[in-house]
Amino acid sequence: MKVCKFGGTSVATAKQIKKVAAILQADPSRKIAVVSAPGKRHSDDTKVTDLLIILAERTLMGQDAEEQLQSVLTRYRDIAADLALGNDVLSLIEEDLRSRLDGDMEDPVLFMDTLKASGEDNNAKLIAAYLQSIGTEAVYISPLEAGLLVNERPKRVQALPEGEALLARLADQPGIVVFPGFFGFTQDGTLRTFNRGGSDITGSLLAAAIGADLYENFTDVDSVFVANPAVIDKPCGIHTLTYREMRELSYAGFSVFHDEALRPAFLKSIPVCIKNTNNPEAPGTMIVKERDCGTRPVVGIAADDGFTTLFVDKYLMNIEIGFGRRLLQILEDEEIPFEHTPSGIDNMSVIIRESFLTPEAEARILERVMEELEADDAYFRKGYSMVVLVGERMRDTVGLTARAADAIRKAGVSIQMINQGSTEVSLVFGVHKQDETGVLRALYEEFFASEAVHT
Ligand code: ASP
Repeated sequence: MKVCKFGGTSVATAKQIKKVAAILQADPSRKIAVVSAPGKRHSDDTKVTDLLIILAERTLMGQDAEEQLQSVLTRYRDIAADLALGNDVLSLIEEDLRSRLDGDMEDPVLFMDTLKASGEDNNAKLIAAYLQSIGTEAVYISPLEAGLLVNERPKRVQALPEGEALLARLADQPGIVVFPGFFGFTQDGTLRTFNRGGSDITGSLLAAAIGADLYENFTDVDSVFVANPAVIDKPCGIHTLTYREMRELSYAGFSVFHDEALRPAFLKSIPVCIKNTNNPEAPGTMIVKERDCGTRPVVGIAADDGFTTLFVDKYLMNIEIGFGRRLLQILEDEEIPFEHTPSGIDNMSVIIRESFLTPEAEARILERVMEELEADDAYFRKGYSMVVLVGERMRDTVGLTARAADAIRKAGVSIQMINQGSTEVSLVFGVHKQDETGVLRALYEEFFASEAVHT
């Protein structure tokens, strides 16, 4: 049995949904189709999820939002008309959206979640109706009915293991199960969404629950590329990756697959294949436990911006027992996760994603660091990017860091931070944001450009 997930561009128009139907019909082992909300139809289009966010925001502010509601409905109306579906589905969608808008606004986050989730929920209903209309046995199943359980507020949304046995029952459903991605329900029935792009997580959870032979993740590219094609001209595609390699690449900006989505598949050793809805014959990129790494040490290079560094300086920090723990405790109290902690003998830097910080939180942190830890100095610096080299074979390769550093030197860039984990699957260079593209190009040149072969 296979679980297939179709991303936003794969379900953005009737034409795309027809391709999805053909993919499902072509292989009877494709048992579950997890679908996103309609995504962009062209590069300057707006995703339905983003339209829904605007709709929810206006409603929360007490403003008239009929126009925004109509723009969401128009997207479904166009799709339904081109798929020759009757008015019933559309009436259901409109009724559903209006009742969500009339819902409880006491907790704005939960109200927003309910609106956002409608994008996938209504699209799943529409796609199931289309499959039925062309004579394919298919049924829409909601995460509530199926038992996709998630934790309570205020913690980050994560699936609860208790849901797995319930989800396993999906395997016994006759026909194709069409399942909306992106959200689940708490034990008391409250809807919560995963973070953006979270339909990948839903697909992985279902694949793990039913013990699928393969999790196929359909998107709009033939494979995962060794570097961002928006920056590097025609980078080569990747044939096979390990779970760890994919995790490292998604962490640092490979948006083709959500970085939280691998874990359920990984725990059950379910292979994942990234495929193209527009070219399903292409083999795609396989993500597996182990691979033959060949001779090439680096499998991909990722880069991501939006990092801030908290610098803390204190004379004799190295002999002060518990300093690091107390510093991280201050971040924990603010519910801020950290990414890296490069340190010297008398200083420590903590690298944090900018999105977790607010000016108020920064001020509180600095005050506590200066007072409670009696630091000599502490300050935040924004505007860093992390450029990450990834590859299982890096650990056995002598001189790899020297090659990378030399390539960065040739690009005339000063490295702000280097981090090499003990497992050596990745090598991270922290640079100023304005240097990110230059460094990415220099590293691509060094490790890939001269040998344009598939990894
Ligand atoms: N529609 C949601 C988003 O745009 C979730 C997804 O597509 O995976 O983030």
